[in-house]
Amino acid sequence: MRLIADLHIHSHFSLATSSQLVPEHLDYWCRYKGITIAGTGDFTHPGWIKELKDKLEPAEQGLFRLKPGLHLDKANELGRESNQVRFVLSAEISSIYKKNGRVRKVHNILLAPSFEVVDKIQARLSRIGNITSDGRPILGLDSRDLLAIALDISSDVELIPAHIWTPWFSALGEKSGFDSIEECYGDLSSHIHAVETGLSSDSPMNWCVSSLDPYLLMSNSDSHSPDRLGRNANIFDIGLSYPELLRAIRQPSSACCGGTIDMYPQEGKYHFDGHRKCKVCWNPLQTIEHNEICPVCGRRVVVGVLTRVAQLSNRNDVLSRPGRLPFYFIIPLAEIIAEITGTGSKSKKVTAKCLEVIRTAGPELQLLIQTPLEEISRLCGSALCEAIRRMRSSEVLIEEGFDGEYGKVRAFRPGEVQAVESGSSLKEMPKRALLPFDLKAFRELICRNGAENIRATAESAGVSNDKDPSGQLIFF
Ligand SMILES: [Zn+2]
Ligand SMILES: [Zn+2]
Repeated sequence: MRLIADLHIHSHFSLATSSQLVPEHLDYWCRYKGITIAGTGDFTHPGWIKELKDKLEPAEQGLFRLKPGLHLDKANELGRESNQVRFVLSAEISSIYKKNGRVRKVHNILLAPSFEVVDKIQARLSRIGNITSDGRPILGLDSRDLLAIALDISSDVELIPAHIWTPWFSALGEKSGFDSIEECYGDLSSHIHAVETGLSSDSPMNWCVSSLDPYLLMSNSDSHSPDRLGRNANIFDIGLSYPELLRAIRQPSSACCGGTIDMYPQEGKYHFDGHRKCKVCWNPLQTIEHNEICPVCGRRVVVGVLTRVAQLSNRNDVLSRPGRLPFYFIIPLAEIIAEITGTGSKSKKVTAKCLEVIRTAGPELQLLIQTPLEEISRLCGSALCEAIRRMRSSEVLIEEGFDGEYGKVRAFRPGEVQAVESGSSLKEMPKRALLPFDLKAFRELICRNGAENIRATAESAGVSNDKDPSGQLIFF
């Protein structure tokens, strides 16, 4: 069956997460979004595992569902009795360690086939560090050694490098990552089958880097509140079971992997480069032209995900990547409705309108990516229909996120919503390119300026960004 899976989320046991991250609400929001398989998140935490054992019951092999009687009353209001929601045991571990002369901070996702395996993983990790203080434990454990422990316990555990481009906490991140998956996982790297692209990157960006060709590109929400489930997700065409899910991840093919659903990566907080305070926001080409130095304050700019991808890229034509899968850009329904109604996306008006749309037209993700436009127009009106048409064809207005500030993606120019509703014709919106700059020109510029020279200039200018420049804790 064709289904949507979001395998990386967190529970209420993780720091800075919503108290609603409990099985009952997760089940409700999966129904709302149209997600069939959700990761439980946080399986390393004994308190969360106890709660999961209390509230879930076995369904198909390696999958679990909410026990009868625990479903929220409001789930019935969604008008979809048939949606089956399944949970798969998942966790994220934050590893901080030294390797090849540098401090590394890498987040890894684990998927496990059973509670027995999870109990064994907990027992092993609890000897290494504290697994009870945070749903996403911080351990002084090399990513390669974490993989070795996982494989030693069960060959059915899957380790997926999390949000691989995030500057501070990822396998390929600019601050504390590596230059390749092989360098990070060493002799065990053949046991890595998939990587998570994260909120600030999309498939075409990852297609630029040929060392990622062997891996399935996955998208997950990394949600810290249940309404954000599925903002990034995967489409699979598989039977409902853990072995089927595992097979799709380990031997990806267009028959079992239907691609990914992604928010526009420009909305990510570290997509472009720059300095918020100095009002400098650059694409990778502009950054290299300036040797990464901010002309306002004279310090090194915060280098975002797009530039990091470009640094590791070795392909000019992204469409020559083998094994490309479809990708669907979305804008969350609440944000679209907020734009149409002119109120905040968390307002009561928007919440009520979203629920009305979902009751009428079905779950959010299916509505956004697959419902025919004529049907959306008939059921939900012309403004929502036009917004979804533009979103699907990348005819949107984008302000890229940079230096810790979220980007913005909008479907309408000022005044256009009224024009659509009154049936007036609209000025065409330009379609966004797959990549907003020329990769070949980027690499030529790096050659001309000299990679070493750029690094030395930046370092002498004061690398001020080894922590989140806003001074806040960053969670990815
Ligand atoms: Zn500056
Ligand atoms: Zn993470």
